[in-house]
Amino acid sequence: MKIPEHLKIGGLIYDIHFRDRMTSGYRTGGEIFYGDCCVEINNDMSKRYKEQTFIHEMCHAIMHQIGRDDLKDDEAFINQLANTLYGIVVDNPGIFHEIYDTEPAQRIKGEGCV
Ligand SMILES: [Zn+2]
Repeated sequence: MKIPEHLKIGGLIYDIHFRDRMTSGYRTGGEIFYGDCCVEINNDMSKRYKEQTFIHEMCHAIMHQIGRDDLKDDEAFINQLANTLYGIVVDNPGIFHEIYDTEPAQRIKGEGCV
């Protein structure tokens, strides 16, 4: 799995950043900043953890995008959804290849929320 530099969800484009130190100062795998359309992923993790964290933060963003504020910060729900989705991606290699005929960075330009 290749974690993209930008992720478009609905009308918003999230910038994905890898950080050696998280902006918040917390020791966590990832964080999402909804207002800034930004996701941070901790660089000090294995490739698989980074991938799973990316899916986790994506699930937060999806719940935010569809207006489910009651679920967007429900970590137990997000973990169940994200871990299941990540399992599908890992256990079914190639499932999305047809739609990746160009590099993700060429298709989506980071623009933040503006
Ligand atoms: Zn979370």
